[in-house]
Amino acid sequence: MELVLTVKQPNTYFPTRIPRLWRSWSKVIVVSPHSDDAAFSIGGLLYGLSEHGIRIEVITCFSKSGYSQFSPPLTTDEATSLRKMEDERFQDVLGRQCQLSWLDQLDAPLRGYSPYEICGARAIPDHDSWLVGEIGCRVRERLEANCALLAPLALGRHIDHFIARQSVIPLVRDRSVSAFFYEELPYAAFRPACENQATADSLSSEIGGNLSLYELSGTGLGEIKRRAAKCYGSQKEAAMVGAFIDHCGERINERVWSVRWP
Ligand SMILES: [Zn+2]
Repeated sequence: MELVLTVKQPNTYFPTRIPRLWRSWSKVIVVSPHSDDAAFSIGGLLYGLSEHGIRIEVITCFSKSGYSQFSPPLTTDEATSLRKMEDERFQDVLGRQCQLSWLDQLDAPLRGYSPYEICGARAIPDHDSWLVGEIGCRVRERLEANCALLAPLALGRHIDHFIARQSVIPLVRDRSVSAFFYEELPYAAFRPACENQATADSLSSEIGGNLSLYELSGTGLGEIKRRAAKCYGSQKEAAMVGAFIDHCGERINERVWSVRWP
């Protein structure tokens, strides 16, 4: 599968190939709140980076889950195993340069959140605050020289995405790593761009740096995302990603925000 990925950098008009700095990374660590978030949101970027020989490690935080709408009824253990198998299918798409780590934290429904409480989180409840430190430690211990970090922007403030994002903020603030925040698909596609911008702006003030947008597009990106969606057949979001690709065709893109210091 050939992917010709182009990147529109901040304050430029014409997209270019993957920036030289990105091609010089030895490793990229991706914080994925759930199985599938990394694949749906930045599967094309990860494919493009692995083609340049960059090692990818996807850390899935809330990998204990009973969430599998498009499968027969399953126990939590069965659903968790199924979702890990789906991650491994995506690993095959990326090739041997990709390593998977599952932190096996319980996802929000298993921690007692009702469907109405899961999105729109303004703060992390006390009973979940330990998860921020725990996930942050697990990510920190995987850092190495010349590596980059991709974490979720937490659009819509799903509580698990919000916790995953907040867990890396100390690493970003102490400048341990080149940090990026990715917009989550399919959700980003159904929100006005100004709301995604507002989320980036508020994160920017929280971190104390500036967030600049990189938009990735290019020939083959739709096909890579279609393959990623096929890996996750148990998830209704996979069907949403498929419909989104059908609608956008070659205009499909991925968006990541890079932290720059004043
Ligand atoms: Zn998710």
